[in-house]
Amino acid sequence: MFPEFTLRYARLPDRFFLRFDPVPVKAPRLVAFNRPLAEQLGFDLAAFDEHQAAEWFAGNAVPEGAEPLAQAYAGHQFGHFNPRLGDGRAVLLGEVTDREGRLRDIQLKGAGMTPFSRGADGRAPLGPVLREYLVSEAMHVLGVPTTRALAAVTTGERVFRRVPEPGAVLTRVAASHLRVGTFQYFAARDDLEAVRTLADLAIERHYPALAEREESERYLALVEAVQARQASLVAKWMGLGFIHGVMNTDNCSIAGETIDYGPCAFMEAYDPAMVFSSIDEGGRYAYRNQPWIAQWNLARLAETLIPLIDDDQERAVERATAVIKAFEGQYEAEWLAVMREKLGLVKEEESDRALVDALLEAMQAGRADFTLAFRRLGEALEEDAPALLALFEDDEALKAWLPRWRERLVREDVGMAEIAGRIRAVNPLYIPRNHRVEEALAAAAEGDFAPFETLRQVLADPFAEQPGREDYTRPAPPSEAVFRTFCGT
Ligand code: AMP
Ligand code: MG
Ligand code: MG
Repeated sequence: MFPEFTLRYARLPDRFFLRFDPVPVKAPRLVAFNRPLAEQLGFDLAAFDEHQAAEWFAGNAVPEGAEPLAQAYAGHQFGHFNPRLGDGRAVLLGEVTDREGRLRDIQLKGAGMTPFSRGADGRAPLGPVLREYLVSEAMHVLGVPTTRALAAVTTGERVFRRVPEPGAVLTRVAASHLRVGTFQYFAARDDLEAVRTLADLAIERHYPALAEREESERYLALVEAVQARQASLVAKWMGLGFIHGVMNTDNCSIAGETIDYGPCAFMEAYDPAMVFSSIDEGGRYAYRNQPWIAQWNLARLAETLIPLIDDDQERAVERATAVIKAFEGQYEAEWLAVMREKLGLVKEEESDRALVDALLEAMQAGRADFTLAFRRLGEALEEDAPALLALFEDDEALKAWLPRWRERLVREDVGMAEIAGRIRAVNPLYIPRNHRVEEALAAAAEGDFAPFETLRQVLADPFAEQPGREDYTRPAPPSEAVFRTFCGT
């Protein structure tokens, strides 16, 4: 049933990883399995056997052809460099070729104490595993590049965090697990040969067109290519009110996927300074900082490649700096494209930026729910809709803004039904609201997976109205609002 492994990473030189078999767990039980993804990855579902699957996804049985390993990487965590992080509890089984011919990593997260575990327990509690499952799959259907969740198993063992919790293992699927921090690991050791090997692997897997370029251009072009994906990725986050929460360089994917759903959360009342993560005391990873942190991370990537960019090192720095500087314009264009779409605009006008800014200011002044405010614009195309106004504690600025927007809509030269359709197609009604996620995780910790299953279904179809599920569209009532998230991983 398991598709064939490629072992591309496992065939790299020894210093890229440490061989490590997952540590078996007491009583594996499959609690979530992503059939459509499994199908896409080439699993033979006709032969699906739940017991076998639980053994594989717990790490109790290693599928044929896999050579499990823990990847080496470094990273800047909250701005401080750690030269040796690595997979402390994750094990890469290998890569499989999906139905579209792309290599995808299959990784077990929470699979035991690897040699990189640095004193931590190598395990994952059920809560964070299910959170990553729900949120990463939600991001995927919302159109955001992301790692995926293939399976979750409980282990029959306890893990100890703030309180004892059931243990679990997540099977994560990624375009790759190459990170900015992977490059930093080798650069910090002056291992230029390894940096080149890694860059060539990144090009082969994610940017194959660059292989044709002259060597003198190829590596700077890699930085540019990663940058283009990160600019687009972060613009999508911003358009959904998504706060990643831990944008360390080891959580910055070379493939341009969202990776690591530790303390992430979706904003409710719009506030650009919003921070959820309890460990982000300085607000480094606040909503509004995300693009500039991505740029900072890309600068760290460029640094590792300087020796390969130009024989003249001074020139290499100049060229790389110019590329990183260009992030600002690229991001701005991506962000404006996202925001135009959210407002139902297809044509581009000079004044659109000001129009978007004015709406965001009105939302901030009114402490409006970010998700619903955009969604309900679709009801206010011709006259002020009570359901929209009700989202604003103070709707004065909104009332001044709506006529400006309507005037702009006229120049789109399409009917209002068309505009309403555009708005519904990109502004979700259902997002993983923190209090709903928490509720599902709390029930699961007590052995009741029904709320998790329901939430999973709701989030699978975020743009259409789901009758009877209005409750899932609503922000948290004040008593349940979540303002702090914990890594707790
Ligand atoms: P993260 O904050 O999730 O990006 O993790 C940062 C580093 O800590 C990585 O090297 C992880 O592998 C490691 N790590 C996180 N949690 C654990 C754990 N429970 N056991 C071992 N290593 C861990
Ligand atoms: Mg991480
Ligand atoms: Mg994490």
